[in-house]
Amino acid sequence: MESIGLSDPAKIYGIDIWGENNFIVEDGVVKIKHGCRPSLFEITKKMRENGFKGPLLLRFPHLAEKSVRRLFSHFERAKKEFGYSGKFKAVFPLKVNQLPGFVIPLMEATQDLDYGLEAGSKGELILAMAYTNIGKPITVNGFKDREMISIGFLAAKMGHNITLTIEGINELELIIKEAARLGTPVPKIGLRIRLHTGGIGIWAKSGGYSSKFGLTSTELLEAMDLLKKHGLTDRLSMIHFHIGSQMNHISPLKKAIREAGNIYAELRKMGADNLRAINIGGGLAVEYSQHEGRSSRNYTIEEFTNDVVFLLKEISESKGVREPTIFTESGRFVAAAHAVLVAPVLELFSQEYSEKILRLKEQNPPLVQELYDLYTTITAKNAREYLHDALDHMESLLTLFDLGYIDLTDRANTETLVHLIIKKALVLLREKPSKEIRDILDRVQEHYLVNFSIFQSLPDYWGLGQTFPVMPLDRLQKRPTRSASLWDITCDSDGEIAFDIDTPLYLHDVDVEREEYFLGFFNVGAYQEVLGMRHNLFTHPTEATIRFDENGEYTIENILEAQNILDVLDDFDYDTREIERRIREQIEKSATIKDDERKEILGELYLYLSENGYLRTINFDES
Ligand SMILES: *Cc1c(COP(=O)(O)O)cnc(C)c1O
Repeated sequence: MESIGLSDPAKIYGIDIWGENNFIVEDGVVKIKHGCRPSLFEITKKMRENGFKGPLLLRFPHLAEKSVRRLFSHFERAKKEFGYSGKFKAVFPLKVNQLPGFVIPLMEATQDLDYGLEAGSKGELILAMAYTNIGKPITVNGFKDREMISIGFLAAKMGHNITLTIEGINELELIIKEAARLGTPVPKIGLRIRLHTGGIGIWAKSGGYSSKFGLTSTELLEAMDLLKKHGLTDRLSMIHFHIGSQMNHISPLKKAIREAGNIYAELRKMGADNLRAINIGGGLAVEYSQHEGRSSRNYTIEEFTNDVVFLLKEISESKGVREPTIFTESGRFVAAAHAVLVAPVLELFSQEYSEKILRLKEQNPPLVQELYDLYTTITAKNAREYLHDALDHMESLLTLFDLGYIDLTDRANTETLVHLIIKKALVLLREKPSKEIRDILDRVQEHYLVNFSIFQSLPDYWGLGQTFPVMPLDRLQKRPTRSASLWDITCDSDGEIAFDIDTPLYLHDVDVEREEYFLGFFNVGAYQEVLGMRHNLFTHPTEATIRFDENGEYTIENILEAQNILDVLDDFDYDTREIERRIREQIEKSATIKDDERKEILGELYLYLSENGYLRTINFDES
């Protein structure tokens, strides 16, 4: 509720809360706080001038690199602070974002770090092998069959530093068999431990006793016996856990680290001399909130790294074992900020309440005339009083209509004038919002129709209620006054981000017939792209990578246009030639189409088939 009283646009949209210093508001636009500081508006305009309408997914590889470097530098800082002798290494879990536009630049930019990839399936393992710089870590989690384990052996033969994490005893048995069949090098072996600490957060099914993954204490002992028996104890190099994504509290992680640290010490005492690393999985949270007091996490990266290093130091000391290499698999934290979704607003649905639609008569009923006078003379001083008068008059006028004393035109004028007065009053009273204004804001929301699909681009909003920071790309020197609900263009009623008075979104009153208005959705780089679904056959938005050179100049690269309609249908295994043939036949046979029109209609349909399915037409003339 604060935000309507605020005038600083960076505060209204909470950039200080979620922005991680990646963006800045200047000259009324959101700029990228890097290099020559281009605005998102300017980049969007350039893309549109090149014919890419519809929604855009803009990638900023420098932001993914920045997150990785933050992770490393904070662990290095904490190690120094606590005098910790173990190393720090990390991998990016591919399931968070497998797209080439993300993965390839990430691996290129981090070659100087002990940074590699984590794979959870055969496809991801092949990607990890292709793109992890040789010698940098690869970890393999998730359920594995013999074939996946063989691929792991091949990767080790190719020179990769690969660790196969065992999720169950049967996987260890498969490794033992493959070692007998394929000989050395045997990949390193990790053991996923089943914590008694439960997972947390809306994604948490990864930790705890009922977790899908990991070895119980008895199974750990059994695994040690098997390794010893087959002379593979020296391959055991890591223990691993993952307590769930987007940890909003740090305490479960601390408990998990205590548990894991003690298991590490016990296994080393049992002769696991090459056991050097504790892999604490992912879960490092991203701030998605744009409102004060609604934070997504109760810790900072400083606190996170300090806690991990301090606890492991303490346990190692008390147990008299060497300090382990700390290994993380943070995905969301690395990927989220790198992508921004830009979506054009197509229409505002209460635009009908504008001055130009008034149908005032020569002689209006006195109360309507009075409404008009209130509207034209309202000021900051009298706004509250006039607002009350207007609401009273509306009640009376609606009663007069029900009794047959005024006509439909009078009623229409009443509605319009009252809305106009409310709009003006909201602007004037913004400095001291009251409970009453709050209720009115809730009542007079504006619906913004936005050219994108929530199911395709923000699936976690649909599936989990995860919100993402959103703000307009320009006009930020003006205060937004409209309480906004966002509608996507799917025909599904779930395709809506409703106005919520506790986490309000205010947008500008724009006339989209005359001017463009774009919304940016931030922190959409983790999970959303791969989880996105083609509900209503909307495909991924057109994407582009924004790269900065040494001089800080930027280029727009790797433009990948949204799939056209025929390609989407082809992906669903439709025979697209059959579709074209059927359409052609129907046009040829149709009795309502004249002969000289057939070719033109066919041409027009073919054109639509070769375009993507997002909406292109905006009301104003774009030529
Ligand atoms: C999903 C997953 C991760 C990544 O979690 P984030 O919350 O994205 O950091 C890491 N490790 C494992 C085993 C996972 O399943």
